[in-house]
Amino acid sequence: MGETIFAEMSALAVRTGSVNLGQGFPDTDGPPALLDAASAALHGGANQYAPGIGVPVLRQAIARHQHRNYGIELDPDRQVVVTTGCTEAIAGALLGLVDPGDEVVVLEPYYDSYTAMIDFAGGVRRPVTLRAPDFRLDPAELEAAVGPRTKLILLNTPHNPTGRVLDADELAAVARVAQQHDVLVVTDEVYEHLTFDDHRHVPISTLPGMAERTLTLSSAGKSFSVTGWKVGWATGPAELVGAVTAAKQWLTFTSGAPLQPAVAAALDEQHEFPVRLAADLRDRRDQLVGGLREAGLTSYTPEGTYFATTDVSALGWRSGGDFCRALPERAGVVAIPSEVFYDDPDGPGAGRHLVRWAFCKRPEVIDEAVRRLAAADLTA
Ligand SMILES: *Cc1c(COP(=O)(O)O)cnc(C)c1O
Repeated sequence: MGETIFAEMSALAVRTGSVNLGQGFPDTDGPPALLDAASAALHGGANQYAPGIGVPVLRQAIARHQHRNYGIELDPDRQVVVTTGCTEAIAGALLGLVDPGDEVVVLEPYYDSYTAMIDFAGGVRRPVTLRAPDFRLDPAELEAAVGPRTKLILLNTPHNPTGRVLDADELAAVARVAQQHDVLVVTDEVYEHLTFDDHRHVPISTLPGMAERTLTLSSAGKSFSVTGWKVGWATGPAELVGAVTAAKQWLTFTSGAPLQPAVAAALDEQHEFPVRLAADLRDRRDQLVGGLREAGLTSYTPEGTYFATTDVSALGWRSGGDFCRALPERAGVVAIPSEVFYDDPDGPGAGRHLVRWAFCKRPEVIDEAVRRLAAADLTA
């Protein structure tokens, strides 16, 4: 196993004093009430192992969150498990549901922990590529990727790294294919609240016939700007949640005891925080995408998430990796080459020449990055 691209690029950022728009974490804190609640829990004695499936107040708050936002009914004792971030929910879902030789259909470019966990489970990846400029999911390609060995479709919407929010037609296509072929859907919805303009996140589990075959994953990290907390969850049918719980026993067993009641309070009481965060991120998006375009980079406008994608080929670069390795010296900015998120970055419409930029940063940080890019020679 090699070092992740994020570790490599973050080290490069430190070494060169670059503005780091690589790894996706905000540089501002979550809501003060959330931090106070964690501190109170810590000083109030919530410091020993929490129950493996999570503390009841958090499981109940997650069930209320799904009901309030999407009308989804969940039994908090059987249909909700708390995990160590969405990362462990992904691991638990894939280790718990995929047997060696099973195929997993996954949107490409993909979040990198998916490929590691499909490998750990002995599964086989079947990528379906989302292509620039609009990164739409092609139903025919999805259909072609699903076969007799497919165990599940691993969805991610809003989608990292493209910033797509799958629309009603795309979700309906996934639902139709999943039901026709009788496969499960595991859906990573960590950016559920972080959508822009008139794009709205719709959980695929709310489509007809999907609740019984969908495992939904999310996390407090992105919604409340506490990516370091690693409090996530999986929700859905009891037997799918049970598969995650079974795997989780041998991963971490249990997660951040004092953080769980704090996240519960935030889910119940801080509804406005993610709404304001999304509005703020939309402004940061516009600031960064505007700056990237002024610097001569072809930029696609994301509909959600923390990330914008650019095409560096117009500047003469054939590889986003070469561009990103040169960028810290040239401009004092770090970004992530999207080529690492593809099985075959040179495949049709794939992303050898694409680069991902994080805009979940303070305005002055983005300003500085944009200024540096404007002043630099970015041609190959
Ligand atoms: C950040 C992220 C995660 C990880 O969530 P944690 O709660 O930090 O483990 C999972 N999936 C996607 C798509 C992400 O961007």
